[in-house]
Amino acid sequence: MSGDLVARGDGMTTEVRSRPAPGWPRKAATAAAILIPALVTGFAVWRAASEGVAALSLGLFAGMYLLSGFGITVGFHRMLTHNSLEAWGGLKAALLVAGCMAVQGSPVAWAAGHLEHHTDADGEGDPHSPRRGLTHAHAGWLLTHSADPARFARHLLQDRVVMAVDRTWGLWALLGLAAPWAIGGFEGLLWGGFVRIFAVHHATWCVNSICHRFGARPFDTHDGSRNNAFVALIALGEGWHNNHHAFPASAIQGLRWFEVDLSGLLIRALARVGLVRRFKGPPPGVA
Ligand SMILES: [Zn+2]
Ligand SMILES: [Zn+2]
Repeated sequence: MSGDLVARGDGMTTEVRSRPAPGWPRKAATAAAILIPALVTGFAVWRAASEGVAALSLGLFAGMYLLSGFGITVGFHRMLTHNSLEAWGGLKAALLVAGCMAVQGSPVAWAAGHLEHHTDADGEGDPHSPRRGLTHAHAGWLLTHSADPARFARHLLQDRVVMAVDRTWGLWALLGLAAPWAIGGFEGLLWGGFVRIFAVHHATWCVNSICHRFGARPFDTHDGSRNNAFVALIALGEGWHNNHHAFPASAIQGLRWFEVDLSGLLIRALARVGLVRRFKGPPPGVA
């Protein structure tokens, strides 16, 4: 399939292969994955106002938030997409399974979409630049776009561990609901399942929307990426997004002492106990 030459954010041109927009069944499934956790969150908050929430349910929310959140930040993003760390085989599979529980699509689809973003961030080829609107950048693009793994994540298609998790990702997403249900009953399912999915969804998506619009730009990158402390807090370190666009190969995104990067701290801790074999840091002299 031939592509079109389009202007990039840095003034160059790049070839963008046209790909059919997702069909109605896929759009409906994506819309359901976005809206159902939001609606259930509204119900859970309304229910909590009259009945309160058990400590176990809040614990399941926090535990599952960290598990699926680190699955996205350390597993899907820094390990799978940018190859900035090499994890022991069992941990690699576990991080990918944890990422699937965040219900943000399969690992390979996630990586392909994010690599497409890095190819032309805030240019015409960016699937989720806020130059097309904050709502589009936040979640709207998910309904109208799907990146081509054969073009953007071809190297992952040969990886047996990655493909095994990719083919079964829906089961792991369901496990992310079944586990808190088994432990905490109906209220555990509400808070550790649906409210947690809602919270991780929007924390991740704030990186695409807020972190390309609001915040500081210590590095003069060819895009609109920003460092945003609030997003860094809720997205486990991913809010230091201008740092990330400046040094995408680095597994560590918080570069200054005040830039708290929980995912980077976890990677350093896993390396210390031998579960992460190697990780890339920022270039010498930067941090
Ligand atoms: Zn970005
Ligand atoms: Zn990235």
